[in-house]
Amino acid sequence: MLPTRAVLLVRISDDKAQDAKGVARQEEDGRHLADRLGWTIAEVVIENDTSAYKRRTIKLPDGSTGLRTVRPGFRSVLDKLASGERDGLLAYDLDRTARDPRDLEDLIDVVESRRPRIPVESVSGSLRLANDADITMARVMVAIANKSSRDTARRVARKHEELAKEGKWNGGGFRGYGFSTDGHQVVPAEAAILVEIGSRILGEWDGWTPEQRAKITEETGESLHSIAEDLERRGVASATGAPWSARSVGSVIGKSSVAGLRSYKGEVVGKAVWDPIIPEDRWRRICERLAMRAGTTDLTLQRWLNGSLHCSRCEHPLEGAFGNGGPRYWCAPKGGGCGKIAVKASFIEDEVERQVLELLGTPRVLEQLRHAADTEVTGDARKELAEDEEQLKQLAKMWASKELGFAEYREARSIIEARVKESRALLVSRAPRVLRSLLAGDVQSGWIGLTPADKREVLLALLPSGYRVLPHDRSHGNKFNPARLVPLD
Ligand SMILES: [Zn+2]
Repeated sequence: MLPTRAVLLVRISDDKAQDAKGVARQEEDGRHLADRLGWTIAEVVIENDTSAYKRRTIKLPDGSTGLRTVRPGFRSVLDKLASGERDGLLAYDLDRTARDPRDLEDLIDVVESRRPRIPVESVSGSLRLANDADITMARVMVAIANKSSRDTARRVARKHEELAKEGKWNGGGFRGYGFSTDGHQVVPAEAAILVEIGSRILGEWDGWTPEQRAKITEETGESLHSIAEDLERRGVASATGAPWSARSVGSVIGKSSVAGLRSYKGEVVGKAVWDPIIPEDRWRRICERLAMRAGTTDLTLQRWLNGSLHCSRCEHPLEGAFGNGGPRYWCAPKGGGCGKIAVKASFIEDEVERQVLELLGTPRVLEQLRHAADTEVTGDARKELAEDEEQLKQLAKMWASKELGFAEYREARSIIEARVKESRALLVSRAPRVLRSLLAGDVQSGWIGLTPADKREVLLALLPSGYRVLPHDRSHGNKFNPARLVPLD
């Protein structure tokens, strides 16, 4: 059920010059978010934290007492949530809500005192307490922000806000294409151009002439250069007024703001306060497509047999490369190979593809694939992930209560976080996803629609050790002799 009497908590920033502006903006953004979520805000609590970090004994929501930072606004919010007078909390971000681990713990206690939990949302998305993983993350973030990196964290956060608010992108002085100067309003005409660019890149536009359409497949899409030329021909204005180029077309569509995401230094850091012009999933597909096209020197993606072929002379893996006769795989000396074995890419890819399709028509192989797509590995990874997240939680607690020094905490945390990352990667790894979607439909036609990267995942599941490639055999002239390809177990 959506909160009908939520409280919006805004906090006066430490940055004196920014005060009034900061509060007004926090409230505006908060109300905007409430509208989007369908929440009703019954009260706005403005907290002035000029007395931050001074502690005294106060009464807690559960009736006990404790030593806490003096924060009357925050405390009143906790009391109201605990009593049921307010039924949801909307804040700007984690940093503005709880900088002291004890404040966060009190908030968590209140949120968890009801079933279902009291809903908590934040404009930046950094404050989430919807489940145990969210809570662990919040604890770690507060613990970090509260200690040595507090100032850095605040500076970075402030920079995000500035960038988002002013619509400045990557330090450039211009507004983002598609958005008004304050970065919050979508400019409809420009948004339409962005949607068009995305569709043309994906090969799904309906504005091409039949002749143009014939040259474009869903797989290749339209080149940025060709799109730029067409925008120029139609007199479409760019954000800066400069003529469109392949580069600027790629740049405007590649901005995460287009998908309603906020990024900092090229990293997406969360959902933005503005609405997406292109849905996130679709935008990511467009970016993937562009990344694949850009990788003309890196053949890892296009040459999907990379990693599956081995030289029969020296056992070295063959690498996809450009040779005299076009793309080929060879035992490159640069990578430590013998340089003696090479094979034209299209020959060997066609042959492997033929074999894969044959395998995909075999019930026994399909059974094997189904097993690979749904192994216990993911179950184990899930369990490990939960355990590690619990450990992170304990760790943050120990540090907050000074049982651990910062150096110890940091070291222990980095070890556990590396494991968490690994388990997460395992859970979302491509192979199970690709296999699952492949097995869900007609396998053979599904294979044909796969990207090179996905084809490689399927091949690795079918034939984990790959093939050994024998030397060229003169008796076949220039033709490829399939016998050169020896499957390895
Ligand atoms: Zn070799």
